[in-house]
Amino acid sequence: MPDISKPYVFSEDFERRLKDKFSKSEAKHTNWQDEDITDIRSSIREYYRTEQKAQCAYCRQTISLTSASNCQVEHIVPKSKYIHFIAEPKNLCVICADCNEIKRSQEILNDVPDVTNNTRIRRYPRTSGAFKIVHPHFDNYSEHLLIINGFYFDKSTKGGYTIVFCNLNRKLHKLGYENPEFSDIELMEVMQTYISETDALRKIHILRRFREMLILI
Ligand SMILES: [Zn+2]
Repeated sequence: MPDISKPYVFSEDFERRLKDKFSKSEAKHTNWQDEDITDIRSSIREYYRTEQKAQCAYCRQTISLTSASNCQVEHIVPKSKYIHFIAEPKNLCVICADCNEIKRSQEILNDVPDVTNNTRIRRYPRTSGAFKIVHPHFDNYSEHLLIINGFYFDKSTKGGYTIVFCNLNRKLHKLGYENPEFSDIELMEVMQTYISETDALRKIHILRRFREMLILI
């Protein structure tokens, strides 16, 4: 079951206005911030804020219930690279200001289309495997990432990419933890993740984090 089960549905009016705006040859991805579509952005933000239960799609931290600055409409496949997906409902969600600042326009598609040979994908991918990072419309977050007391552990390659692309352990790197408290159950959960992991590199990462947790206790 993906984290978002129902994508946003555009009204006829919104659909027509977006089509008019972005089908022009001079349209740029930066036009997404134009004032004439403020109402459309607000509607999308409000929908996904509720659908995602006010959690950032990437770090799972709480996003603002009232402010737009810490509840930003995210284009999962970056709009700067793929402007033709700018109004694709399955390419939209909401994220926190920090994830937005860090992820920016990094390439998250596994098969990068070769634009020089004019083979740009026109149809939005329909499977989880097309994306490097956790995609809220296709993936179940907890299958890929484990969060314990602010530590992010990858449970899959996707989880690993999501940690790197959004620098999810940023708080730990910047501030450390003041009062870390890990229960026996949490430590056992990490041990279990380590035991069931088959990828050698991810095993090393989990072990490293586990060591850090033990040092902090
Ligand atoms: Zn976030």
